Amino acid sequence: MKVMKFGGTSLGKPERMHQVAQLITKDSEPKIVVLSALSGTTNALLEISTAIAHGDREGARENINKLQEHYQNFITILVEKEDAVLKALAILKEHFEFLNIILSISFSEALNKDILAQGELLSSKLFSVYLEEKGIDHLLIPALEFISLDSNGEPMIGSIKVKLTQLLQQNNNKNLFITQGYICRNAKGEVDNLKRGGSDYTASLIAGAISASVCEIWTDIDGMRNNDPGIVNKTIPVEFLSFDEAAELAYFGAKILHPACIWPAQQYNIPVKLLNTLKPDAKGTIIQELSKHNGVKAVAAKDGITAIKIKSSRMLLAYGFLRKIFEVFEKYQTPIDMITTSEVAVSLTIDNDADLKKIIKELKPFGTVETDKDQTIISIVGNEITQTPEILKQIFDSIKTIPVRMVSYGGSRHNVSLLVPAEYKVQALQLLNKDIFGL
Ligand code: ASP
Ligand code: MG
Repeated sequence: MKVMKFGGTSLGKPERMHQVAQLITKDSEPKIVVLSALSGTTNALLEISTAIAHGDREGARENINKLQEHYQNFITILVEKEDAVLKALAILKEHFEFLNIILSISFSEALNKDILAQGELLSSKLFSVYLEEKGIDHLLIPALEFISLDSNGEPMIGSIKVKLTQLLQQNNNKNLFITQGYICRNAKGEVDNLKRGGSDYTASLIAGAISASVCEIWTDIDGMRNNDPGIVNKTIPVEFLSFDEAAELAYFGAKILHPACIWPAQQYNIPVKLLNTLKPDAKGTIIQELSKHNGVKAVAAKDGITAIKIKSSRMLLAYGFLRKIFEVFEKYQTPIDMITTSEVAVSLTIDNDADLKKIIKELKPFGTVETDKDQTIISIVGNEITQTPEILKQIFDSIKTIPVRMVSYGGSRHNVSLLVPAEYKVQALQLLNKDIFGL
């Protein structure tokens, strides 16, 4: 059985949805198809819930109406036959009535999650109506029935496995299953989600749970590129990546894949393919256990980084110092990305500075604290690159004109990360493209 996930842009126009139907019926292998919301919908829902949270009911109502109109136009092209049109209209009625009811309820976080869930519910139900119109046998299986989070907000893959296997067994006469990405239930049984872009994560959790033959992530670009095509003139496709390389790239800025989606695939050893709905026969990128090629595969950049330096002579020869510092970040649930230390100072980076002021206040007793905002992490990723000394030389020769604030090397064998002021990002990516890839 394989898993195929389609992102918002692959579903965002009725014609694209028609094309997805073709893609999932090309071969006879049983499938679970995971769908995102139509492009733009989750953003629109977020605006609606933000407006409600701020008491702007008029603004929310306006946005709901706008969204409803968009869907009404969408279904006039999506389906033709009268009974399909009626079914599609009934689905819109159900979900937009729900949104309008919410307008009169007082706002809560649980309600926010309910609002955000409407996008995937709509896309999957409308797609199912279209498949039915075309006589394509399938079953819509609600993600809310089998994807759940534990009390720490982590997906419970064991429970997904049990519930999903049961669902599949009960319907073993079916070959094609459609479900929603992103949405799930939390430990309290409420509707929740896997965070923005989380449909990839749903797909790989499902792939892991059913030991799928492959987890295909369909978007509208040709797999992973060696660099950011928006910044450098020329990029080349990356055909193979190991799970470790893909995890570093997805985390450090390559927008194509949700970083969390690597671990389930890696743990259950399911190859992940990144494919393009606009060019279905293109090779794309295959992510699997062993990368076939050594050397640098790609560079990626992550913006919006803040560097924090804590300097203290008390750190000299002391132990337990780092723990105390890390505990401050743990308290504010702020992940640390890069760390470098000297005997009297430690520098680290965060990308979520929501609690920066409080963090600095609590760090002050440990020494002098300095922060640098607007930094960018440039990550150079490739199999075993830290085992190849020339690569390090090449990297530093290439960016010799750029003031590097931090370097992280040796944390993994597949990554060298540099922290540079944001204004040097473009130059750094261009230089590396020229000197490392010859592009
Ligand atoms: N619809 C959700 C989002 O826009 C999840 C996804 O598309 O993966 O973030
Ligand atoms: Mg996405």
